[in-house]
Formats: sequence, C-alpha cells, structure tokens
Amino acid sequence: MIAFEEFKSRADALRASMAGACHAAGRDPADVRLLAVTKTHDARAADYAARYGLGLVGENRVQEAAAKKPLVAPETAAAMAGGRLKWELIGHLQSNKARLAAGLFDRVQSVDGEKLLRHLDRAAAELGKTLPILLQINAGNDPAKFGVEPADAPRLLDAALACANLRVDGLMAIAPLESARDAAVAARTFENLRTIRDDLAATRGVPLRELSMGMSGDYAAAIAAGSTIIRVGTALYGTRTG
Ligand SMILES: *Cc1c(COP(=O)(O)O)cnc(C)c1O
Repeated sequence: MIAFEEFKSRADALRASMAGACHAAGRDPADVRLLAVTKTHDARAADYAARYGLGLVGENRVQEAAAKKPLVAPETAAAMAGGRLKWELIGHLQSNKARLAAGLFDRVQSVDGEKLLRHLDRAAAELGKTLPILLQINAGNDPAKFGVEPADAPRLLDAALACANLRVDGLMAIAPLESARDAAVAARTFENLRTIRDDLAATRGVPLRELSMGMSGDYAAAIAAGSTIIRVGTALYGTRTG
C-alpha cells in the first residue's frame, strides 16, 4: 500500500488531468466526480480517499466491502456517518447477496437484471430506505462483460421505475478489454451509453443524470462523451497485486 503523500500527488495529478479533459470537452469540472476504486487494497485506501476529500469509494465485491468497512479510521467513519463519503458497489451482484448489499452500500451501480431489481427493492423496503441504483448496460457489446444488452435496457428501466424503494440515478458501463489496445473502442462504448441514456431519458421522461463510465486508462474519452462519474483505481493506488 502506497503512503498517503504518494496518493495525494497521484490524486492531484489526476484531478488536473480531469480538469484538462473537461476543458477540452467544454464541460464544467464540477460536473464530473471521481470515485476511488479501493478493491483489493486494505481499509486505508478508503481512509486516503476520505482524507483527500473525495466523496465516493467503490468496491466490486460485497464480502470485501463488508470486511473492510468496520476497519476504516474514525475520521472516515465520521465522514460516512455524515454522508460526506459514500460507498458504491461497482461489481456484479448476485440476487442472493442483494440484502447484504442494500445494507452496506449507498448506491449499487451494477444492476443488470429484473430478478436482482426485485430482490434489491424488497431489501430496501425491509431496511426502510430508498436505494439509489444505476443500470449497467453492455454498451460495448462485449460478450465477456456483465450488464444488460442495449436492446433490453428499456424494459429493465421500466421495471426499475416501478420499484417503489429504488431510485434510478442513471447508467453505468465498462469498456471492453480490447479498448486497451484500441482507444476508438472505448470512445464508441461511451458515446453509445450516452445515446442510450439520452433516448431513455427522452422517452421515459426521467433525467437519468448519472453516466458512470471511464477508468484509469480511458477516463478522458469518457469525459469527452459526457461521463459524470469516473471510477479510478490504478491511477490513484497503483497496480493491484491481489
Ligand atoms: C476495478 C474497476 C475499476 C477501476 O479500474 P482501474 O483501471 O484500476 O482504474 C473501475 N470500474 C470497475 C467496474 C472495476 O471493477
């Protein structure tokens, strides 16, 4: 695990680069949030994010987040209690873990099926909360990726809007692996997600404000296409070993 000072200089550089991408795209940097992906790192990764003043951390596995959350520093716990630091689930969620996830996370970005919607809606009702969600769309038509197919997105959105205890904030996508070699693939994926969002927002009359897209290697392309949340691990914490 890197020292906080190194994290800080990485975060400063990333923020400057994000601002550059925003300016190039004619966007206000305040409209793009940085979610720190803490997966595989220990609980200090969330402490660093909180100490730096980031408002969002992301984990891709329910069990890992459950183990880590109680280990954060008291200042981090205070930021969580005060609503200044939110935890988001960004990895695939099985329906049988929906209850645990609904209790642990402030938002679930990886909702990709109607069965999961039903389980999350019921869990949120039992917890007496409204759970914010994003719908994960396979906008890059990647056979290896989770997420609902673009053609099935309207039906999933309609089902989500009918869930009384869920609030649909927007859409999420992960670019295909091949975009590491071909930047055009990532750009196309992000443009596609934005188009899907614009169509759904217009036909359903809901804002779907959030577009969670872009990671360490492709966030500039995502910002150009309208991303409102970039999910960054490696550029903040270094290469994952676990
Ligand atoms: C791991 C992960 C990220 C972060 O990827 P980096 O390349 O380390 O920035 C973003 N989104 C999801 C869904 C992830 O699983």
